[in-house]
Amino acid sequence: MRTAVLAACLLAGSVNVYPESAATSASRTTELPSGSTATAQGPILTEAQINAWVKRWQKRLGLQDWKIEAKIVRLWQLPKGTVANIHWSLPRRQATIKVLDSIDSAVAKGEIVRDTELSVVHELVHLSMAKLPLDSNNTDLEEEAVKKLSAALLALDKADRE
Ligand SMILES: [Zn+2]
Repeated sequence: MRTAVLAACLLAGSVNVYPESAATSASRTTELPSGSTATAQGPILTEAQINAWVKRWQKRLGLQDWKIEAKIVRLWQLPKGTVANIHWSLPRRQATIKVLDSIDSAVAKGEIVRDTELSVVHELVHLSMAKLPLDSNNTDLEEEAVKKLSAALLALDKADRE
């Protein structure tokens, strides 16, 4: 029987774990910066853009055997205090990435695009580790590694483009 694991990503420093333990199906989320408030902003992100990032980074990370769906969602469709998450099923090789609609974003307008691409890379790095024997009750070290790797990958990508 498949059970689900939910863990919050550590962009903001604290971790929320909703442990049910399972190797086959799991979720990870990316937290909102703490102390921020949502401001009304225009549609900066499109699902086409998110899907283009997913496709590009999926290929780079060698995750082509996965069927990955990407969605832009509102604040209330994500775990509290998060800006993105991923849910995957290892046996089905299916994953869904949800990223926060820019309307609800607390990030400065000029940083939303890069921040959201970072979230996509971050969640895909989690997916690249989906087969590892991760400890769903202690995701701190996983978060730390995923944060560093995703930031390094995006920085390299930006350096390449310049
Ligand atoms: Zn994470």
